[in-house]
Amino acid sequence: MGIVVDNISKHFGSFKAVDQVDLTVKSGSLVALLGPSGSGKSTLLRLIAGLEMPDSGKIILTGKDATYKNVQERNIGFVFQQYALFKHMTVRQNIAFGLEIRKVQDKKIKGRVEQLLELVQLKELGDRYPSQLSGGQRQRVALARALAVEPEILLLDEPFGALDAKVRKDLRIWLRHLHDEVNVTTVFVTHDQEEAMEVSDEVVVMNKGRVEQVGSPADIYDNPASAFVMSFIGPVNVLPNTARIFQSTGFNAGHPEVFLRPQDVIIEKYAQEATASAKVSRLIHLGWEIQVELTIDDGQVVTAHLTRDRFNELQLEPQQQVYVKPKHAKSFPAYYSV
Ligand code: ADP
Ligand code: MG
Repeated sequence: MGIVVDNISKHFGSFKAVDQVDLTVKSGSLVALLGPSGSGKSTLLRLIAGLEMPDSGKIILTGKDATYKNVQERNIGFVFQQYALFKHMTVRQNIAFGLEIRKVQDKKIKGRVEQLLELVQLKELGDRYPSQLSGGQRQRVALARALAVEPEILLLDEPFGALDAKVRKDLRIWLRHLHDEVNVTTVFVTHDQEEAMEVSDEVVVMNKGRVEQVGSPADIYDNPASAFVMSFIGPVNVLPNTARIFQSTGFNAGHPEVFLRPQDVIIEKYAQEATASAKVSRLIHLGWEIQVELTIDDGQVVTAHLTRDRFNELQLEPQQQVYVKPKHAKSFPAYYSV
């Protein structure tokens, strides 16, 4: 196993930042720690790195108990959101740094640096200084630097958090390809659910210092284990179980609140079996999707997402009368707000 976190807890004063967390990361996989700000993601990552010591529990890295080992002994590469590259060193010198302090042979260092420059696609920029690079390029240098010493484990704490949306999107695809090439066991922290789903083999959803659910991106999306996960992982309508949209289908929630994804709101032009009547109150074009705000005739407001094709088929207009029904509605014992 790459990483085993066994019943780890960490308090700051009376505050439980990480609370009895168990987690297994398979060797060579890429796992995302996903959760809102303050949910304990960075603390858990720092515990794995040895930058924090736990109150209780164990950390096993590549089969060896590392709980009380210091950072240097753990053979970990770390990249933070604001990774301070050495300003007075070129890209090449930055990447070489870790190898030089380990007294690796000059010739070997040179070869390794060129290999890494190629890997992070910065071959042309090796002699530039960090101030001459874009934010995205700097983070790629930071990654190359972390990988230079061939760590067994790579820990990334919101590495693209400070970059703008387009660069972020490009970099996460790039990171996925990079990981497929180097296959180092990687834990990636993010508060962005789309980023977590796109990059990782497995997503660990955290809330209030605890793990809410672990699963593949598809699993987390299709079978959320709690109201929290369902709400955090994508847009959702939260409706009372007495809402007419459910009554007509005979859906029995069993709990007071029902969760329904916007793309699971079926809209029809004409009344059909088990549909509730509704009015289109607003249409919002989101690019490839159309968001339709609906008011059901019991007054409940529901958001639906339609593909452009379906939207064109229906030819919806504001104030139009339509008929709706739910698909894959879910309910959970208790609702924790995000
Ligand atoms: P995340 O990375 O998910 O945003 P963190 O792990 O950084 O969350 O923090 C979890 C909680 O622990 C936060 O409420 C934060 O304020 C608190 N915390 C983190 N580090 C410290 C510290 N060194 N001292 C006191 N509180 C801390
Ligand atoms: Mg954090």
